[in-house]
Amino acid sequence: MSVFNLNDQNSNLDNKIVAGLDRISQVFKTLLWEKSKTYNLSPIQIQLLIFIAYHSDEKTTVSYLSQEFNLSKPTISDTIKTLEQKQFINKIIDKKDTRSYTIELTEKGENIVFETESFVNPLTDIITNLKQNDKLVLWKNITGIIQQLNELKIISVQRTCFKCKYYSNINNNSFCNLLNQNLNTEDIRIDCEEFELKV
Ligand code: SF4
Repeated sequence: MSVFNLNDQNSNLDNKIVAGLDRISQVFKTLLWEKSKTYNLSPIQIQLLIFIAYHSDEKTTVSYLSQEFNLSKPTISDTIKTLEQKQFINKIIDKKDTRSYTIELTEKGENIVFETESFVNPLTDIITNLKQNDKLVLWKNITGIIQQLNELKIISVQRTCFKCKYYSNINNNSFCNLLNQNLNTEDIRIDCEEFELKV
């Protein structure tokens, strides 16, 4: 049975859902590609700039970005070099180890993030118009799928509640011991700044 064989796909709901997810993932690529052409940047250059804009310094090292984007360290280093040449970023060299550095955006970099991050707007508009209950069902399923992909080591980095040392689940009630609050479906995060890996 193949998800891409139309007879198999159209006679099986599981296959149709997987094919639908594949279609949606193509949409992200298409929308990002449109921005890339407009601003003469590659999709990964835009993705790196957006990630750096919204994450703390320790997540802007070559090693971290390599894991985050599932790309080799040389590929990330080359992308960073290009972004530096285009004056979108500055490297902040580690005084204790001059081979290491973190990255900060220049004003020009901040402007390009502002211009390009809207590539997701068509999807945001669709989600905004869903009913609240439909959003909750969708979010519960998305967070569950992400959790399982992480357990299968297909998504290598994630900062979700389920993997966080502050997360507890008692009698099916999720709780954050840092924020000291119950975590309802809509409170579960997939990218939390306070996340610390449960060991
Ligand atoms: S600190 Fe953040 S990731 Fe961790 S449980 Fe609380 S909300 Fe979730």
